[in-house]
Amino acid sequence: MPSFNTLCIHGGQEPDPSTGAIITPIYQTSTYVQEELGKHKGHEYARTSNPTRAALEANLAAIEGGRAGFAFASGMAAINAIASLLEQGDHVVVTDNTYGGTFRLFERVLTRSGLTFSYVDTSDLALVEAALTPATKMLFIETPTNPILRLTDLTAVTALAHAHGVAVVVDNTFASPYVQRPLEHGADLVVHSTTKYLNGHSDSVGGIVIAVRDEHIEWLKFVQNAAGAILGPFDAWLVLRGTKTLAVRMAQHNANGMAVAEFLASHPRVQQVFYPGLPSHPQHALAARQMRGFGGMVSFDVGSLEGARTVLNRLRLFALAESLGGVESLVCHPVTMTHASVPEERRRAIGLSDSLIRLSVGIEDIEDLKADLVQAIGE
Ligand SMILES: *Cc1c(COP(=O)(O)O)cnc(C)c1O
Repeated sequence: MPSFNTLCIHGGQEPDPSTGAIITPIYQTSTYVQEELGKHKGHEYARTSNPTRAALEANLAAIEGGRAGFAFASGMAAINAIASLLEQGDHVVVTDNTYGGTFRLFERVLTRSGLTFSYVDTSDLALVEAALTPATKMLFIETPTNPILRLTDLTAVTALAHAHGVAVVVDNTFASPYVQRPLEHGADLVVHSTTKYLNGHSDSVGGIVIAVRDEHIEWLKFVQNAAGAILGPFDAWLVLRGTKTLAVRMAQHNANGMAVAEFLASHPRVQQVFYPGLPSHPQHALAARQMRGFGGMVSFDVGSLEGARTVLNRLRLFALAESLGGVESLVCHPVTMTHASVPEERRRAIGLSDSLIRLSVGIEDIEDLKADLVQAIGE
């Protein structure tokens, strides 16, 4: 089995059989000519299959250590496809501060079809166990969480879920498969918004589900075609180009994330820093066990909304924008941006304050990033 870095570059890709092109072409076609009735080269219609998409699916399955991948038009479409494994009356336990779009899909759309959801702090196994009911079919985990970077012990929570016959889904978007490999901890399905670290260049929206079990693979293949929320060939090609540099990008995101977190932790005007790589993080030991490096997401608190507003408006290299995981550094104010739709009491319950600032630390020169933080926060 080739190593991770090699799989990123070569997994799922062979030189194009018809021309020898080293890069999988963008097969921008809706249909495929059949040689004679019932005889074709494996592709009939492009919703069902497309060679560029197939290459990306095989590439990402290899990178996550799964058996099959299914690419969708967005991360949300991928999560919706996973939810289609469930039936009316089924119950799902979800990490309490899951991505806002996931909460919205579950609460506003899927409850209409008779699914029920409980949101618990999955970092506490006792709370997870207490939330399980005879109707629970799925545990939906996000670790680290957005934006306060709380961790769930994947090995422990998976063992607990499996003891109750519950399937485990991990949204691995925040970590990336370089940093964290949920299938190795026993998870059944991994989902990513490829929009973030996997594509890595902030120029495409997409989603992927990686599966290992026959029944999941069969259903996801069926539903990808039946419901049709497929990733287009150009976006599949962009993500394939992105994953070629995933290993080197993530190594740099890890290094810059750590350096920015340490810098902020030592800054007198910063009250609190949230980063699993800091020894002050309450789950630092788990992070060191479960993650390879600690990622590029860092949150910090300057103590007041006014202070946060000043920092947000002064930062230049860190661009004020939603999203994350690109090569360029971004900053956002979760309470008014990514988490604006989360009710105030829920925000308080997950420890999300008005003065919290979230950074997606890119791969620029670290000294330039620090200089930008100094001019925005002060000495
Ligand atoms: C962005 C994101 C999603 C949704 O993905 P889209 O590609 O925006 O649909 C889901 N989960 C997490 C953790 C995300 O960051």
